[in-house]
Formats: sequence, structure tokens, C-alpha cells
Amino acid sequence: MKHISKLPNIETTIFSVMSALANKHQAINLSQGFPNFKSDKKLKDLVAKAMQSGYNQYAPMPGNIELRERIANKFDLLYNSSYHPETEITITAGATQAIFTIISAFVKQEDEVIIFKPAYDCYEPAILLQGAKPVSVQLNAPNYSVDWSAVKQKINHKTKMIIINTPHNPSGSVLSKADMLQLEALTKNTNIIVLSDEVYEHIIFDGKKHQSACLFPDLKARSFITASFGKTFHNTGWKIGYCCAPKPLMTEFRKVHQFNVFSVNHPMQKGLADYLQDSNHYLEIAAFYQEKRDLFLSLIKDSRFTFQASQGTYFQVLNFSEITQEYDVDFAKRLTVENKLAAIPLSVFNDDNKDDKVLRFCFAKTKDTLKKAAEIINKI
Ligand code: PMP
Ligand code: GLN
Repeated sequence: MKHISKLPNIETTIFSVMSALANKHQAINLSQGFPNFKSDKKLKDLVAKAMQSGYNQYAPMPGNIELRERIANKFDLLYNSSYHPETEITITAGATQAIFTIISAFVKQEDEVIIFKPAYDCYEPAILLQGAKPVSVQLNAPNYSVDWSAVKQKINHKTKMIIINTPHNPSGSVLSKADMLQLEALTKNTNIIVLSDEVYEHIIFDGKKHQSACLFPDLKARSFITASFGKTFHNTGWKIGYCCAPKPLMTEFRKVHQFNVFSVNHPMQKGLADYLQDSNHYLEIAAFYQEKRDLFLSLIKDSRFTFQASQGTYFQVLNFSEITQEYDVDFAKRLTVENKLAAIPLSVFNDDNKDDKVLRFCFAKTKDTLKKAAEIINKI
């Protein structure tokens, strides 16, 4: 058989590559982003209870209505912003499926989609599969802040969508209110859809306030917001999240979603709906992760890696240019094999593998793991 690849230049995701290498060499795995501690027993018990009490058949296509109502309450509480649970919120198989479905539902051949590099790696393939063109705006180390004049230059009549991500994976930077106002001004009176990837909305540090797209009326009117319960409640393996958008956008989304997954696993939706009744479960997450970030950074402060403290997400970027001038992918692999510590090289998220000599370390780990990782880092 012969076939022409639809994604000739896409390789296996770096997260699979580095986790496999870490496992093979029994390295401490701070590469792929997932916690190595247990999630809340209360949540697991609620899911088990949902299974035992019969939530085992298809959920409604847009998701369990109680869960959608709790999500609507959360938007109300956190951002004083309303989304109608019936028509404006849909439960998805993780943020990944939401993102793929949003792009499939709106982006057509020849359209352009603006993404910020380094970019989380699921955006670009989804754009390419529509026959559309990803248009990059580079964020530069060490601040990874957005140059909005560069964005303005890239917007034209073909621009269908702009994808933002705050707090930002992999850099740990966050968009400010001023950034969001710039985006709002740039997209005003256009047909551009904004996909706002907010999976780390609850993981933001030093008293900063998450600037959700829903806080800005004109942005809200053109935005999909995507979120992930895997990230928020330490269960990345559950692959459950949601997205919300004004009704006309969500109607189009559901036309694709119903044939993409139809609906998402039901007992977890019911368990999460019950768990979300207590807002402390998400309000406590920022302090929980800030303690981990601070511990990790205090342990490695005298190492030869240099850094600016992460502002959000559970990732910390470390610069290694005082240690070696190796290509970051080579250094990340050598660190895994020789020093038994795995991290993610950032060049794979950039155009032309732009290499700023930085690696991303996941600090969603137990204190013990962070201490062991720091011992290795301090010896390098
Ligand atoms: N967006 C970003 C920025 C991410 O880091 C991730 C990884 N969790 C996702 C989307 C996908 O989330 P999920 O695991 O819920 O599919
Ligand atoms: N979001 C996770 C990360 O950034 C990885 C998810 C995945 O493995 N696809 O590390």
C-alpha cells in the first residue's frame, strides 16, 4: 500500500519520547507534565459511588447537566461571568479533544491560525489537518512576553483564529490584563475566533489573578475557553475537561463533537459534579503548587542553572547555557541517560527548533522527588 502522510513533518510527541526514555533509564521523570502524588480520595470515592449508583450509560451528548451547572457556578464565582449550562458549556475528553474539535469545527483550507511559539504541541497538527496554515509569533526567552505589534502584522483577511495559552506551557509565563486588552482591541470588529487554552487557570502564583478571556466582553463574545480536570485535580489519566463559548459558537462545536466522541465517560462526570460543590477544591490549588515551586527553586538556587521563577503552570524553565552549549534535545537526553533526570527541551515547540538553551522541569511532584531531583541538578 502507498499513502501520502497528512502530517509528513510531525514526529512522536516529545512527552512520549522523554517519558519512555526516563522509564528505560529509571530516571526521575520531571519531563511529561503529571503529578506523582495521589489525588484526593474524596474525589475517587465520589466517582466510585457514581459507578455503583448507576451512572454507567451514555451521558447526554454535551455532558452531565449537574457538572455543566457546577462549571457555570465556577465561572460566576471566579470571574463574575455567565455561561448557560444548557447551551454554552460542553464536557470533553480532556482539553486536547476540545482543542481538536474547535479547530476542526471552524478552520477551513487556506485559513490562517496565529499561534505563539513555543507552543503546546497539539495545536499545530490540528491546524495542518484542516489544510490551514499555522502562523507563528515567537515569544522570546527569558520573559516569553507577547509583542502585540508583531501579532498585528500577522493578522490579515485569512486569519480565522488566534490561539492563546495562559498560564503558558512550556514557559510558565502569564498574560496580563494589558495583554488581554491588546488582544481584545486587535480582534475587535473582525471575525477572528480566539481559542483561549486556560488549562492552568488555577495554577498561578504570587497573588497574580488569572486573566480569563471571559473577563473581557468583546473577547468573550469570540472566544472558546478550554479547561482540564486532569490538570486541576491531579488526574491527568482521566482525560476529562470542558470548553465554553457563546451559544452560536458552541452550536457549531457540538455539530462536530457529537461525531467526534459523542459524549464523555459518565461516572467521572458525576463524581466531578459532586466534588465541585466545594469551591475550596480548586481555590486551594494555587497555594499548593506555589509551595512546590518555592521548594524546588530554593533547593536549586545555587546550581549552575539560571532561571526566572515560573508565574503559573506546574513547570519551571531552567537555562543551562553556563553548563553546556549542546543542542537542548541532546542535553535533555544525556541528562536522562547519564544523570537519571528527565526534562523537556523547549526547542521542539519552536519554529526551526530555535534553541534558547532551556529545559522545562515539572514540579508537580512529592517533596521527596523534588529533593532528589535537586540533588542531581546541584551536581551538574
Ligand atoms: N493545553 C495545554 C497547555 C496543556 O499543557 C495540556 C496538557 N495537559 C493540554 C492542553 C491538554 O489537556 P488534557 O490532558 O486535559 O487533554
Ligand atoms: N500537558 C502535558 C505536558 O505539557 C503532557 C500531555 C501529553 O503527554 N500529551 O507535559
